[in-house]
Amino acid sequence: MQSFVGVGVFRGRVIGPVRHMPAALTAPPAGEALDGSTSAETATASLKEAGATVKAALTERASRATGDGKAVLEATALMATDPMLIKAAIKLINKGSSAERAIWDAGDTVAAMLISLGGYMAERSHDVLDVRSRIVAALRGVPAPEIPDSPVPFILVADDLAPADTATLDPTKVVALVTAGGGPQSHTAIIARSLGLPAVVAAAGVAALEEGADVFVDGSAGTVTTDPGDAERAAVAVWLEKASLLDVFDGQGQLADGTRLALLANVGGAKDAQEAAAANAEGVGLLRTEFCFLGHSTEPSHEDQVAAYKGVFDAFGGKKVVVRTLDAGADKPLPFLTDSTEPNPALGVRGYRTDTSTPGVLARQLAAIADAADQSNAHVWVMAPMISTPAEAADFAALCATAGLNTPGVMVEVPSAALTSRHLLDRVEFASLGTNDLTQYAMAADRQLGTLAALNDPWQPAVLSLILATVEGAVAQAKHSVSRGLEDSLPKPVGVCGEAAADPALAVVLAGLGVSSLSMTPRALPAVAAVLRTVTMEQARQLAYLAVGAASASEARELVRAGLPALAELGL
Ligand code: PEP
Ligand code: MG
Repeated sequence: MQSFVGVGVFRGRVIGPVRHMPAALTAPPAGEALDGSTSAETATASLKEAGATVKAALTERASRATGDGKAVLEATALMATDPMLIKAAIKLINKGSSAERAIWDAGDTVAAMLISLGGYMAERSHDVLDVRSRIVAALRGVPAPEIPDSPVPFILVADDLAPADTATLDPTKVVALVTAGGGPQSHTAIIARSLGLPAVVAAAGVAALEEGADVFVDGSAGTVTTDPGDAERAAVAVWLEKASLLDVFDGQGQLADGTRLALLANVGGAKDAQEAAAANAEGVGLLRTEFCFLGHSTEPSHEDQVAAYKGVFDAFGGKKVVVRTLDAGADKPLPFLTDSTEPNPALGVRGYRTDTSTPGVLARQLAAIADAADQSNAHVWVMAPMISTPAEAADFAALCATAGLNTPGVMVEVPSAALTSRHLLDRVEFASLGTNDLTQYAMAADRQLGTLAALNDPWQPAVLSLILATVEGAVAQAKHSVSRGLEDSLPKPVGVCGEAAADPALAVVLAGLGVSSLSMTPRALPAVAAVLRTVTMEQARQLAYLAVGAASASEARELVRAGLPALAELGL
């Protein structure tokens, strides 16, 4: 028996066989020519055969898939024998290229041509690049670079996953996620939480797990154990019994003394929003609009944007929906907004900053949000990501006013924003703490790096202090406004929409620090709600005080967990 320790990012215990995500394909060497023993005819025949194999595999897979995954697979299957692509490759073979290099270069040419056409055609460029990788894999006789298929449910082991991998991740097949890389705020972690899959990230060494062998994954403890025995089977049985206690949220976030704390959902589009509404979320605290357009090579049209946003608003009629404007860059590149050659994208032109490098996109997005809001009865708030200064907040508020959107807000993701929240809130109506980025910037630790997972922990007292500073800034802003006779005395809302809100113990700390709402993946709502109901505001404040005063993230976590017996009772 061997144990691998990582960071648990979603609770749950499961035993299942390991399936590894195939390694990413490397490009064939530039200029690779036909070897002396292969004629152009033979290479052409192998290429056509590889195309047909890929098409058949994708068509078969699509026939068993549903929803978005099915559509993605069907579109890619069609591309595999697309005459434009194959003809372009055969031309190159006839000029002496190897089959692999020919399809590689033909893929680049066809993708570039589609991008130049823009709109729907440009979107297809991704299918072309995906299919050419699959054809190269078939030519090499190695597994296609995709989530493996299996007749039985399995535990997916990968280096890390990208947001696009969700399209083909079937949660009835994948029963847990384990990654060697990624941190607790990485996209693998976000995907796992949104699908409700037990997950462990930053588990060094798991690449060596034997394919097909059973392992035990404990998403709460953050461990992966080989050769599971009776003890592990018993742990799974206990978990299954407790899990049913955490199935439902009744739609009202509150503490034991009746203090209300709105529990909202993080969503990436209409489908998520419908699921969030079915899970009784009180509203949407974060609509990640870039998720509606991931993979788009060109700016989405006004009509496409209105349709995407309206789909979300319609699921939450009469309720609050906080729309975040496009947050492109770093871990979420959008080719029409970000520069992929930047040396340090996390500190580069990302989020709100793209309004300077690509002016107009933000104003057009706000116009589309306003149109969609007019066509629905949701209470639409808008916020900008990566705001760093009060001047940026003022400029964003002015753009919102021009679009007719009257509840502008800012995300607090950069320490400078946390420390100047009083001035930010003088210029906008609310703030939302993006603790994923706030943690990476406070700790100077890339949120995608598994090796830095311990630093990248929202329990870090420095991060908690920045959250406290943000709330204190809101209180100071309210007092200052009253003294100027401007407004009533209530501080403007400061919510949390980072992954920290989905951790039931940390949710208690956030409540004690004075935040006004928590937004999370809908799957986390029942557990967070259940634990919040076991503490009064006074108890939450005391626990928050202990956490902020701790010397380390682990000390903060242990002190708070010791004060929350409900966690153990609920198996959290
Ligand atoms: C955050 O940074 O906490 C956040 C909610 O934004 P994202 O995870 O999309 O960067
Ligand atoms: Mg962020």
